[in-house]
Amino acid sequence: MARYAGPVCRLCRREGMKLFLKGERCYGEKCAIDRRNVPPGQHGKGRRQRLLGYGLQLREKQKVRRMYGVLERQFRRYFEKADRQKGVTGETLLQLLESRLDNVVYRLGFAVSRPQARQLVRHGHFAVNGRSTNVPSYSVAAGDVIAVRPSSAENPAIVYAMEEVKGRGIPEWLELDAEKLSGSLTAPPTREQLNLPVQEQLIVELYSK
Ligand code: SF4
Repeated sequence: MARYAGPVCRLCRREGMKLFLKGERCYGEKCAIDRRNVPPGQHGKGRRQRLLGYGLQLREKQKVRRMYGVLERQFRRYFEKADRQKGVTGETLLQLLESRLDNVVYRLGFAVSRPQARQLVRHGHFAVNGRSTNVPSYSVAAGDVIAVRPSSAENPAIVYAMEEVKGRGIPEWLELDAEKLSGSLTAPPTREQLNLPVQEQLIVELYSK
């Protein structure tokens, strides 16, 4: 299946919540969820259904998948990996998604959104532990140092994002050295730290059928 390339605000409207896929616009009054929070499509208006069982589980999975920009097969692999590990599967699943390089780049404030972070990583603007890495799904481990490559220090998108993140803040499980344009993951985030409006248990139930 190809990566979704259509209007991303439509995805937020489908899930009925902000997925923060557009950067600055998501925090302003032009956000489609703030202006017109109805499902997309001709029959969307006034038709947000009350979901139960499978429908509810499916929407929760789609919400998380779209938030992190992961395709179905890859998402399933994350679940299977989480399921094999010790601990609470749902929490481990979220930790695995949070440790993706594109997500860490976004969280550190080197990009205004996860889709932009993915693109910047693909274009080779970042190094992990001193080695250039252009794989958005690269799994960042505790202690890894993620840095903007010296040749990309003046990249306008990164410079702009660094300014913008001052209002957003850096999560407590990450450390940022703004002067060196680098940061690191101190430890995987706990579920409480993540503070995501997600019921991951529904995803576990969906895949455990
Ligand atoms: Fe979603 Fe951002 Fe569009 Fe709002 S502006 S609907 S949060 S992508």
